[in-house]
Amino acid sequence: MDAAQPQQNPGADPPSAAETPSAGGSPAPDALAPDAPAAAAAAAAPLAEGPPLAVATPHSDFAIAALPEQTPGITAPAGPIAAGLYMPGAAPYHAPPDSPFPVMSPLDSSLLPTVEATPLSLIPEIVARARSAQRTWGDLPVRDRIDAVAKLKKRLLARAQEIAETVHKECGKPVEEAALAEVLPNADLVDYWTLTIEELLDGVTVELDAISYPGKLGRIHKDPRGVIALITPWNYPVAIPLRSIVPALLAGNAVVFKPSEVTPRSGALIASLFKDIVPEGVLEIVQGAGEAAEAILEAGVDAVVFTGSVATGRRVAVACAERLIPCSMELGGKDAAIVLADCKLERTARGLVWGAFTNAGQNCASIERVYVERPIADKLIARIVELTRELRPGIDTAVMTTQKQAAIVQRHLGEAVAGGAEILAGGAPEHGSLAFPPTVVKITNEDCALMREETFGPIMPIVLVDSADEAVAKTNASRFGLTTSVWTKKIRKGRDLARKLKSGVVTINNHGFTAALPAAPWTGTGDSGYGITNSPHTLAELTRPRFVLEDTSGAKSEMWWYPYTPALRTIAFTMARLRGGAGFFGRIAAFFRLLITFPRRFKR
Ligand code: NAD
Repeated sequence: MDAAQPQQNPGADPPSAAETPSAGGSPAPDALAPDAPAAAAAAAAPLAEGPPLAVATPHSDFAIAALPEQTPGITAPAGPIAAGLYMPGAAPYHAPPDSPFPVMSPLDSSLLPTVEATPLSLIPEIVARARSAQRTWGDLPVRDRIDAVAKLKKRLLARAQEIAETVHKECGKPVEEAALAEVLPNADLVDYWTLTIEELLDGVTVELDAISYPGKLGRIHKDPRGVIALITPWNYPVAIPLRSIVPALLAGNAVVFKPSEVTPRSGALIASLFKDIVPEGVLEIVQGAGEAAEAILEAGVDAVVFTGSVATGRRVAVACAERLIPCSMELGGKDAAIVLADCKLERTARGLVWGAFTNAGQNCASIERVYVERPIADKLIARIVELTRELRPGIDTAVMTTQKQAAIVQRHLGEAVAGGAEILAGGAPEHGSLAFPPTVVKITNEDCALMREETFGPIMPIVLVDSADEAVAKTNASRFGLTTSVWTKKIRKGRDLARKLKSGVVTINNHGFTAALPAAPWTGTGDSGYGITNSPHTLAELTRPRFVLEDTSGAKSEMWWYPYTPALRTIAFTMARLRGGAGFFGRIAAFFRLLITFPRRFKR
């Protein structure tokens, strides 16, 4: 996928209510039609009631209106806005012409708070500020950093509703999904890292042979890399950045964070969570599109943690290679689910439906291919179709976040159908609509983009296979290798298949959720990149090893120091014999030879 563009032309007027995607293009127009009394009632209703907010409040106003007070860098919408509410028919709102950010919510086309882009000319200064702050922050005892970052948990939880609503409004995902995926796991994240980081950063002693290296002690320390550039996508705009920010800061780094230009408000909210928790400069935010990220790299950082598309990842990796700085690449996916004939049918059907349609499939680990063994196929497909038809648009399923992504999904589906794919549930919405219904397709011709490229939308293509081996071969034939799930009652069989799969994560009888486990590595192979998020393995990206050797032997010289003499040469070759270059008797002879030669080496 190419770099994301803002979803609306920044200078364009917002469409009228009749033109708004969620109002006009929904599969259930009645449910979503703008309805002022319903909107007012739903806006007044307590948030915990959830569903009405997602569906029947195309112009609802909730905590977004309160956001600017807490979140520096963003201000309440200007123009025809009453506390965040876009009034159809009022004078059009004009975003600043150079703004890279979307103006309207994909959910209901209501205007979003305005965000200031960071002037490119300020970026070198921002990176320099981070560098200077890092020196002090990195020198603090790790306990002090833990005490500071631990405060984040309470803030996150106390502002749970505000965070979920911001993501809901900015991305279009249901509030429940935002709370479950973007807020709650972050509490575990803070707990995990604040409890483990001290031990994980602790120096490790290197065992040294006391005869060859007398009086020497080696220790490996994990030092912060310095200033880390964090460049993130829009699909999980709170959870993904926090997974790197928390361990990076605890390890003593400063972070310059550039959120996606599609979700700058969620990015600003993250930065606000750290206000007064960490010293100024330790977490800097840069708002803008690709050129802002390029300017951060240009200003000179020590490592880059990138999550996004393959196309942009390649560009960033090249930029890092030119600067000889390490980078972490978490890229796209084309996850497969392999369903064996002995699976638990109901659980499998439910798991696949969630795995394919959560966040409208805008998930790097979305199920984008299902390979099902023939004997169970008819029953499984029937149940999947039933469950898919039960999904309530806007309540259970998100809208697409960007027009650009909706167009890609529409193209993939259209091409597949033209090639013989059969739509069993859902289908493409009106052109231009963001309300893409969850769609199940039976595929017979696999030679299509829908089966090869990342679709990143709510489409579940199903292919019938003759065996698990065929499913594994098809799964591994993809250039992507993020996660794969295997559905079977026979766990041992599942484990065997897991060993044959080339993806970075394999789940048996589940899918995709492990990104929320802070102790479990999240990583891919092939075009899914080589980054590792979560778990102690991520520290290889966020820290660098420093080896310190202490020599307290007090000897005047080492055996291998100058001068090079015949005795030294004898020692070298005799040691080679002693260490395996000769047979049993040869090694005994070498041992005695060494005993005689060593004193000659050190005689003056
Ligand atoms: P994207 O590549 O368009 O953008 C990602 C980030 O890169 C954004 O912040 C963007 O501003 C920035 N960017 C754009 N041009 C740049 C440049 N020239 N130099 C540096 N940075 C630049 O991706 P997206 O559309 O925001 O996100 C969707 C993609 O992310 C999908 O492919 C999805 O699979 C992937 N993703 C992967 C994971 C994972 O863990 N593997 C997680 C989430 C999303």
